[in-house]
Amino acid sequence: MTRKILVTSALPYANGSIHLGHLVEYIQTDIWVRFQKMRGHECWYVCADDTHGTPVMLRAESEGLTPEELIERVHAEHSRDFAGFHVGFDNFYTTHSLETRDCANEIYARLLASGLIEKRVIEQYYDPLKHMFLPDRFIKGECPKCGTADQYGDNCEKCGAAYTANEIRNPYSVISGAKPEIRQSEHHFFKLSDPRCQTFLRRWTQTEGRLQPEAANKLQEWLGEKDDNKLTDWDISRDAPYFGFEIPGAPGKYFYVWLDAPIGYMGSFSNLCARRGIDFDEFWRADSTTELYHFIGKDILYFHALFWPAELEHAGYRTPSKIFAHGFLTVDGAKMSKSRGTFITAESYLRQGLNPEWLRYYYAAKLSASMEDIDLNLDDFIARVNADLIGKFVNIASRSAGFISKRFAGRLAAGDETLPAVQAIRERRALIAEYYEAREFSKATREIMALTDLANQYVDSVKPWELARQPEQETALHQACSNALNLFRLLTILLKPVLPALASQTEAFFDVAPFTWDDGQQLLAAGHTLHPYQHLMARIDKNQVVALLAANRESMTATPEVTAPPPAPAKEPETPEASATPATPPVGIDEFMRIELRIARIREAGHVDGADKLVRLLLDLGPLGTRQVFAGIKSAYDPAKLVGRLTVMVANLAPRKMKFGVSQGMVLAAADVEGQIPGIFLLSPDDGAQPGMRVK
Ligand SMILES: [Zn+2]
Repeated sequence: MTRKILVTSALPYANGSIHLGHLVEYIQTDIWVRFQKMRGHECWYVCADDTHGTPVMLRAESEGLTPEELIERVHAEHSRDFAGFHVGFDNFYTTHSLETRDCANEIYARLLASGLIEKRVIEQYYDPLKHMFLPDRFIKGECPKCGTADQYGDNCEKCGAAYTANEIRNPYSVISGAKPEIRQSEHHFFKLSDPRCQTFLRRWTQTEGRLQPEAANKLQEWLGEKDDNKLTDWDISRDAPYFGFEIPGAPGKYFYVWLDAPIGYMGSFSNLCARRGIDFDEFWRADSTTELYHFIGKDILYFHALFWPAELEHAGYRTPSKIFAHGFLTVDGAKMSKSRGTFITAESYLRQGLNPEWLRYYYAAKLSASMEDIDLNLDDFIARVNADLIGKFVNIASRSAGFISKRFAGRLAAGDETLPAVQAIRERRALIAEYYEAREFSKATREIMALTDLANQYVDSVKPWELARQPEQETALHQACSNALNLFRLLTILLKPVLPALASQTEAFFDVAPFTWDDGQQLLAAGHTLHPYQHLMARIDKNQVVALLAANRESMTATPEVTAPPPAPAKEPETPEASATPATPPVGIDEFMRIELRIARIREAGHVDGADKLVRLLLDLGPLGTRQVFAGIKSAYDPAKLVGRLTVMVANLAPRKMKFGVSQGMVLAAADVEGQIPGIFLLSPDDGAQPGMRVK
């Protein structure tokens, strides 16, 4: 029976980069979705950027952008990173959309009609300079317990105490530094304390199979015993200025970002439905028979297993079939750290030339259905990928494919159905499918690698490389290599959810339609003709991982903090100060290599109003995108004549906010520091250099 399934991953927030911690979830979800699609089910995978809230608003302001400009840029970056790791969303949308707004308004209206929205006046800190109410995270002060200075308004990093912003001593606004005032404001609350919500959630969260056992226990704790009434009402509004959706009929009041974030799943799906002719109501109406699954991190269980189903239920929609929470990522056994270089961004991983399927495989080999954290042990990562994927799996093809194309014109002989490895694969396919379905990916990969061992035992027993040296063994060689390639094909089908790009290369090599799960039942027919074999995957070199850590250490200053608001920008000079010292001490090669020089093509060059030395350049770095740079070269160059030429830039210089905008790097130019020879001379590469190439 064909199932109808809608799957979501949590929405990434639109003010930071995707890192390897985020990718645990997107890769986990993507593997599951690809498996469902291979099985022939109708499975839709939607996501969106989570765009609203104070941090996005302030980040945009600090970069001299509108929030819309910021979220558009981040959306492009996130889309690039997800595509780079083969995360195959059917729709990656934005919560700042008409569809999400319509859904949010509809849910709010229905909750209001059900008597589950209440307005109440609350007291909150207000920044008198910035003219805005301050979320707890934007207040700092002295810890009321231990007295440590500069602690956030909700908890102390020194002693771990949790408190409310009202308790903190000598509070100040993180945004302006001003002493905040207490002011009153009317807020909208979702009445989670209402008996209807409590009764519903008790039943819903304890329904067998809805939540993982450890999640159900957590929910039980939050809900308390019957009649405990532990849930308090949820504040769903924020005051202007706020980047979000204004609440209908409440001017100056906005939906809190966490209200419209899960609704963004509906908005994204609604957008997909309109484009693909899918029936939205069939998936969302209260009596829907379709399946709905949310993959999330364990830290947002509260929002997805309490607020979200309660909202949906009382607004007359279906509730999620199941919620799948996963643990966090550690790297080498510790939290990801910027100083150690283990806070690794998706972009840097790809930019360093590491294969995204190495990471997909490693995560798959670690992931289970539980909420336990998983560890990316970098030595183990190298060892396991090289041993399993290269040494065992790809090796089956690379040891036999060449003979088929060179000696047999690419034509396969009939595969041997009775080989123990073929029979073992047929026997265990159902079990492996069960593991995929249950998100027990580590068990699935372990089974597949055991089958790969059997395939290698076969290849080792027939030794094609020895048969190839004996002219009278031509038929045996043809048979051996055909069997090996048939085994490789069956194993690729089993690994396709994890390695979609390698599977696609393999489909091209075998000249067949995209593999479905059922294709794994049959061997290829005798006479089937292959395309010439191209190497499918390289080994990881330890130096690549060393370089990756170095790249993420160096980008420390270039990457603003993800969650904390940036400090008020200091006033900066218009042009970088030239060093007057001609002789500088020697640097080591490692230190030099930390400077990322790249070829750039000047795509646009223009005057900057109010700056008589500066030219604004838009630099094209090829696959790395574009950068805006302000260069102090106007005295030597007419901007119009710069367009189209190649030069060299420092690509990892920390971005600088200037009066005119953010400068994202520096172009290299020669000048006589003594001032004897006038002029500024922009560097150019030799013919053949392409935008984005590294200079070293
Ligand atoms: Zn403290």
